[in-house]
Amino acid sequence: MTKTPNILLIYTGGTIGMVKDYKTGALRSFDFEKLVKHIPEINHLKCTINTISFEEPIDSSNMNTDDWVVISEIIEDNYEKFDGFVVLHGSDTMSYTASAISFMFENLSKPIIFTGSQLPIGDLRTDAKENLITSIEIASAQDNGNPIISEVCLYFEYKLYRGNRTTKINSEHFEAFTSPNFPPLGESGVHLKLNKQLIYKPTIIKPLKVRKRLDNNVAIIKIFPGITKVVIESILSSKGLKGVILETFGSGNAPTEKWFINLLKEAIKKGIQIVNVTQCISGSVIMGHYETSVELENIGVISGNDITTESALAKLMYLLGENIPKNKFKYFFERQLRGEITVIE
Ligand code: ASP
Repeated sequence: MTKTPNILLIYTGGTIGMVKDYKTGALRSFDFEKLVKHIPEINHLKCTINTISFEEPIDSSNMNTDDWVVISEIIEDNYEKFDGFVVLHGSDTMSYTASAISFMFENLSKPIIFTGSQLPIGDLRTDAKENLITSIEIASAQDNGNPIISEVCLYFEYKLYRGNRTTKINSEHFEAFTSPNFPPLGESGVHLKLNKQLIYKPTIIKPLKVRKRLDNNVAIIKIFPGITKVVIESILSSKGLKGVILETFGSGNAPTEKWFINLLKEAIKKGIQIVNVTQCISGSVIMGHYETSVELENIGVISGNDITTESALAKLMYLLGENIPKNKFKYFFERQLRGEITVIE
């Protein structure tokens, strides 16, 4: 007989557990124990659930790299005792956190499922119950005693996604996330359908390594028509800056003006890593496809290919934290590390 899966539910904050402040009317984080009382259904799931909460649950807009480390340590400390992990998190920055945790956990062989909701769990029309219950079911899903999922995922509004492929696309709809360049790993309807072809399967189980050094000396520059030299110059000369995500137009295109290219070139010479990511919701960067990206390629800008901005930022912080030699950085960034980019072999 296979044993009942043990799931650890980690509450970090977010709308799912919020209540209205009676004075201001604004939503604020709430006590987790009270939250669980709103969902007696979880006691009927075929798994054992333990819960742990951030001492002070936060709105995910307050998440930072230290909080990512706290989440990673909770999972690391409990890794052997549990079969799967469900992280309750605000939706605003969930894609960033899910991406970061995916890079931080090397050789992951158990499910880490992020979820949250658009309406608080106590709300009559809440989407929280379904998101939470199905996430727990997914984290408990096993095949012959082995977890079906061995990666960091995000479950929201009937869809299971690879976490580092997601982006938040709507601040009001229940369908708040999408995975623009990679299909969902599963869908929940009358049946819970997991797409085993797409789900990452480790061939050999290696010891888990949790990488906690994240370097946040980074910036995101979203270019726009009319962007000035002063703006680019001041960002690139920020003290301690080590990496930049450059959000470009279309398939990775940017102004060809001399001052722009020269500023990027100087920054790269100083050792700042510059990654080209598209502003488009889907599709990839193909440097050299248009004249407006040829120079970027020539000066050594890194291609983000079809990575999301959220995932690119997390990958940049992770690789900078790992102290990859400067001349190998481009090579490592352009490789697929956790399924976050499409690599044509
Ligand atoms: N502001 C909230 C948060 O990200 C929104 C949500 O939970 O959906 O924490």
